[in-house]
Amino acid sequence: MTINIKNLVRKNILSLNPYSSARDEFEGENGIFLDANENPFGELNRYPDPYQRKIKQKLSELNQIPTENIFLGNGSDEVIDLAFRIFCEPKKDKVLTFLPTYGMYEVSANINDVELINLDLTEDFQINLENLKPYFNDENLKIIFICSPNNPTGNSIKNIKYILENFNGIVFIDEAYIDFSPEESFRNQIKNYPNLIVSQTFSKAWGMASVRVGIAYASEEIIKFYNKVKPPYNISQLNQDAILNTLNDENINQVSENIKIILEEKKSLIQNLEKLDLVKKIFPSDANFILIAVDNADSVYQELVKKKVIIRNRNSVIKNCLRITVGSPEENQKLIETLQTIK
Ligand code: PMP
Repeated sequence: MTINIKNLVRKNILSLNPYSSARDEFEGENGIFLDANENPFGELNRYPDPYQRKIKQKLSELNQIPTENIFLGNGSDEVIDLAFRIFCEPKKDKVLTFLPTYGMYEVSANINDVELINLDLTEDFQINLENLKPYFNDENLKIIFICSPNNPTGNSIKNIKYILENFNGIVFIDEAYIDFSPEESFRNQIKNYPNLIVSQTFSKAWGMASVRVGIAYASEEIIKFYNKVKPPYNISQLNQDAILNTLNDENINQVSENIKIILEEKKSLIQNLEKLDLVKKIFPSDANFILIAVDNADSVYQELVKKKVIIRNRNSVIKNCLRITVGSPEENQKLIETLQTIK
């Protein structure tokens, strides 16, 4: 199957040039910079590197992926939104998601005036390929979003390979929670599939949600289009520095340790939830959160709020289900104790 990415891209994007700074050629050198109307005084007076080269270099070494295959966004939310801008003609093109899933695909579809096709996941929250197959022939279907592990259900999605092999549009795999999962990331598959975008984030396993940095791994061609549409300085210098500080050996080890602790906590949280009569079902999770079913999610949620324990009420998308983030041992203990007081 040969896929021509240019045929998928919005016509007006094709001819755009990426932002280029007069300073690019002086990268790493001292000079007298009078090119960007900056203030000569202060410590934060200079614009940051628009292409975040130092971070990409680190990620490249860490994951054995060339820097040309990496894009950084202001959170993976920006990685999602820019995909619409690259591939979807407003009022004409469509994207497809599997419900229940992460809400930003719909938000971005609405903002970009792009039609959203929603297919239901099966009862065990998997993709029903028979329902999906007819859409493979829709020329205006530009992106299929697959969230794996899926938010809010927590499970990993099977059959992704089949979709990659059979869909000629963009397959966008959102791996925000992959570092908590025993499943392998699809990021190493970008060399086999020119239409694949894998998004990851520093917000979850890396513990840097406040910094707002997300990652897209994709073919060089797709990354070039990302660079054409991104806001020039989409990641501030302070935020680039924060990420660079995290990407050293000591911190990386600490991040791995924290993941282990969170997964251990998840196990004991599940054991404790199983003991509660109130909890009717605990869904399997490969992420740092657990979806549970109760008899009356709204009232359990409200009772918890009254006691200043905030979880996510997902009753509106999955009947009587609540999503619980795995917290610190103390936080999880407090949650269980509070749940014990609810009838
Ligand atoms: N994808 C999924 C599945 C998420 O749950 C989230 C955050 N809740 C995001 C992406 C956005 O992450 P970021 O902080 O990188 O924008």
